[in-house]
Amino acid sequence: MRGFVNCQACGNAMTAAWSKGKYRRYAYYRCVTRNCDAKGKSVAKAKLEAGFEQIMQSLAPSRQLVELAGAMLADAWSHREEKALSDQRAWQAQIKQTEKQIEDLLDRIVDAERESVIKAYEKRLDKLERQKIVLAEKASKALPTNKAQRECIEQALGFLANPYYVYKNGSHAVKQTVLRLVFVEPLNYCRENQYGTPEISFPFKVLGGSACAKKMVVPPERFELPTS
Ligand SMILES: [Zn+2]
Repeated sequence: MRGFVNCQACGNAMTAAWSKGKYRRYAYYRCVTRNCDAKGKSVAKAKLEAGFEQIMQSLAPSRQLVELAGAMLADAWSHREEKALSDQRAWQAQIKQTEKQIEDLLDRIVDAERESVIKAYEKRLDKLERQKIVLAEKASKALPTNKAQRECIEQALGFLANPYYVYKNGSHAVKQTVLRLVFVEPLNYCRENQYGTPEISFPFKVLGGSACAKKMVVPPERFELPTS
């Protein structure tokens, strides 16, 4: 979590350290910013992490919302697939066109008599051949399969449904990625109030985990119709 927790008093990153206990060493975090009110006041690493895990756990959105997100992802995927298909059709058409141009040129080369003309044709032919190779390479790119789609969507949904699980069971690199995906900025921590309101990233804000759901939706105030 290093670098992901800021001191609420001064906004600078808290530093991890070890205390020199008599029998054991204890991990803790503290602010080391000069002149900060909270400077040197340490928080046990375990306490800091427990509070953090609570925030992560509160992010899990309801099943219906995850299903909705799944439908949106599938929709986005099919749009992408359509685009890939139409691109491929366009490239195939361009290949056909290029082949036609090459054929025409070959005919003209056969009929041509002046060497300078033949040379110019050959130069164009060379260009067209290269163009055809580039197009063929584009057109040969494999389209995403249904299996890839399912796996991709399942992974995304798994993460949206339970970021905490992914965090808890992930390697250090996965943990760092989860933190970056979930939180827009480092969390603020102070010894008295613990974590401030975290700035959560867009998908989780939209999916509204229980942490967000607690906020009441205030209905717009009724306004009087003007009487004329
Ligand atoms: Zn500080």
